[in-house]
Amino acid sequence: MKFVEPKVFLVGETRIAEEGLQAYLEHVGAPDWETDAPSGSERLSEVMGRLCYRSFEPGLNPNVTRVREGNARYLGHILEVGHGSVLEHAVVNFVFADVSRVFTHELVRHRAGTAVSQESLRFVRLDRLSAYAPTHIQESEEGMEVFVKTLEQLEEVQRKLAEIYAIDDEKHFDRKKKLTSAFRRVAPIGVATTVGWSANLRALRHVIEMRTAPEAEEEIRLVFGKVYETVRERYPNVFSDYELETVDGLPWARPGNRKV
Ligand SMILES: Cc1cc2nc3c(=O)[nH]c(=O)nc-3n(C[C@H](O)[C@H](O)[C@H](O)COP(=O)(O)OP(=O)(O)OC[C@H]3O[C@@H](n4cnc5c(N)ncnc54)[C@H](O)[C@@H]3O)c2cc1C
Repeated sequence: MKFVEPKVFLVGETRIAEEGLQAYLEHVGAPDWETDAPSGSERLSEVMGRLCYRSFEPGLNPNVTRVREGNARYLGHILEVGHGSVLEHAVVNFVFADVSRVFTHELVRHRAGTAVSQESLRFVRLDRLSAYAPTHIQESEEGMEVFVKTLEQLEEVQRKLAEIYAIDDEKHFDRKKKLTSAFRRVAPIGVATTVGWSANLRALRHVIEMRTAPEAEEEIRLVFGKVYETVRERYPNVFSDYELETVDGLPWARPGNRKV
């Protein structure tokens, strides 16, 4: 067996279709409108927000005589007044690797604005087990011994079952799949696996708040601490109201404006 650390890969994000946006700006009468958004996601959120009131520039809507200039100011106001629905247009895509089924089970409880693709342990056979060792387990040498021994035994169980049912000689994939699924039942919930996870920026703000909080589980705090670091740098105006504190060696990222 092998010890692993959860890994966070940002694999995709929203980008602007320049031609289409320019055509829309001409249509609405603001062909020269520009913004200083640091990312496509923040620029798109601003466009979606401004189109509601035609607030690209004064006069497009006779009721609008002044507009907030700049992406940071504009999105800052959106966060303050809680019009977070415009943040739903931008989506970020992650792969979380070497995370446990403890982690994935907690992750999938967040349903609003998310998408999930989970490595199938019906198809992917467990031969070598890997796992994350929580810090509390690491505090005791004796505890670590029990932890390692149990994982080694469970790894051996996987090999033994594969041998008994001669899965490598099996010609029919359907039976292979059924056996693989049966074997996983005796794998530990801490087994490391992979999950693809996407979320819109409104959902992401919520999940970061919930899952970096000190009362959340260690592994999910570790992962969402890394997620926060990534998105704070990439979308600074969407996360401008967050404050960072370190609790038990892990980041706790709290928004100034809750539930936008
Ligand atoms: C520290 C901690 C401990 C936990 N312990 C447990 C536990 O012991 N047992 C357990 O079962 N779960 C537990 N959970 C999971 C928790 O109950 C939620 O299921 C999980 O955090 C998902 O969050 P959410 O409900 O905000 O859903 P999300 O899908 O993230 O939704 C975001 C928001 O959208 C709105 N929303 C989403 N879906 C609906 C809907 N169907 N109807 C109306 N509004 C909706 C809500 O305002 C919601 O807060 C725990 C979570 C944490 C952070």
